[in-house]
Amino acid sequence: ATPTALLAATGRGAQLGILVSGPQALERLRRIDTLVLDKTGTLTTGRMSVVGVTGRTDAGAVAGRTDTGSAVDAADEAVRLSTAEAEAVRLDTAQAEAAVRAAEETVSLTPDEAVRLAAAVEHGSEHPLARAITAYGDTRRTALGDHRPLPAVRRFAATAGYGVTGEVDGRTVTVGRPGDLTELPAALADAVRTAEDAGHTAVLVTADGTPQAVVAVGDTLRPDCYRAVDHLRRLGLRPVLATGDRAATARAVAGHLGITEIHAGALPEEKAALVTTLKEQGGRVAVVGDGINDAAALAHADLGIAMGSGTDAAIGAADVTVLRDDLQAVPDAVRLARRTLGTIR
Ligand code: ADP
Ligand code: MG
Repeated sequence: ATPTALLAATGRGAQLGILVSGPQALERLRRIDTLVLDKTGTLTTGRMSVVGVTGRTDAGAVAGRTDTGSAVDAADEAVRLSTAEAEAVRLDTAQAEAAVRAAEETVSLTPDEAVRLAAAVEHGSEHPLARAITAYGDTRRTALGDHRPLPAVRRFAATAGYGVTGEVDGRTVTVGRPGDLTELPAALADAVRTAEDAGHTAVLVTADGTPQAVVAVGDTLRPDCYRAVDHLRRLGLRPVLATGDRAATARAVAGHLGITEIHAGALPEEKAALVTTLKEQGGRVAVVGDGINDAAALAHADLGIAMGSGTDAAIGAADVTVLRDDLQAVPDAVRLARRTLGTIR
């Protein structure tokens, strides 16, 4: 293509809300045949909200309470026997009750308390899940008339594709991927399954290593994504879903769009490895993503496409940025490149 044609295409791209980094990017855009799509923030709006919180049912604490109950009964029985003996039992009862209270405090938080700790830690993250959880925490604190400031967080750390951790109120709190469900109390494992079958993301909150609550976070598909994915197929592109989210959630979302190739539970480096594999198989691979977790895959792709609403890391790693908050911009961009540079594929 002539420089004039390229310049015209770049200008037309800008009108369509597509920022192309240069002529080479336009050339590569024309040739792509495989499109790896991220889920959260790319196929979905990324404007997530909490749809439910499930706490642990306190098997341990309930058992503790039962023990205390029988200790109290025993103490009453003892009163009838001798005052001195009864006094000894009452002391045991007081100790047992204190132990149960301590156990309840460390082992079993109320869902609202778990959310409060989670929201404090998520303050340090810019992930869409984090925004949903902090917003929900604000709502709950207002509803509860809790005017305490959020507790301070020490030793905050975020792991892309996993979640966040930090020390809050002397406890080590983690908020993130649920991991192996067989290691969770039944009520929490059930909450994870129910959320994921509905296409929601289940986030686990732990305190000092003990699972406390499952927060179900709902996200909605972008209204434009049905048409855009359909359009991409008609352009001859093969859509592949790659997400850090778990398989059940990924399947629910992909099902709506008729996407059959799904790579779920993919850590950032696994998304990048998938891109490399697809390239080795002869694919000319573009990646569309929005998050820090997509940056490596965007960089490994023949062409990286970042959603403009996404993180700086994604935009920095991409060749094309979609400024218009609309996935339809992706097929528009491919068509523009093909028209400008001829239709040879
Ligand atoms: P996607 O590929 O769909 O954009 P990510 O790779 O960003 O998803 O995240 C993958 C998983 O890691 C999420 O489903 C969640 O379980 C967990 N996760 C990542 N960041 C956070 C966070 N800040 N808070 C809670 N969970 C998180
Ligand atoms: Mg994402």
